[in-house]
Amino acid sequence: MKIALIAHDKKKDAMIDLAVRYKEVLSGHELCATGTTGTLVMGETGLKIKRMKSGPLGGDQQIGSMIAEGKLDMVIFLRDPLTAQPHEPDVSALLRLCDVQNIPLATNVKSAQIMLDRIASGDL
Ligand code: PGA
Repeated sequence: MKIALIAHDKKKDAMIDLAVRYKEVLSGHELCATGTTGTLVMGETGLKIKRMKSGPLGGDQQIGSMIAEGKLDMVIFLRDPLTAQPHEPDVSALLRLCDVQNIPLATNVKSAQIMLDRIASGDL
């Protein structure tokens, strides 16, 4: 599967924890991420991740375009619902495209764990 990883700043530690915990599962898939998220997760896990631009600089839109083109199978987007984001329109567009294309989307850690557990058990 092709999986995108994105985390807002206050959720980056949670994304790193998730990636460390599920490193073995994630390593069997093609990963991409927004710039800073990708750099941090690669640094902590050694996973190979294709990095797009940073989210606020267009990375969310790049991932959105991959969804539109059918090039992604799952998105884990750990959003910070308590902080205003300068690129909120890009965030909304990405979430919308997941729904348009029926792409599994986890926006919090527990949802991501459920999806990754399903992948690990071969159900997804
Ligand atoms: P970042 O982007 O990984 O480059 O910080 C995430 C985002 O805010 O969309």
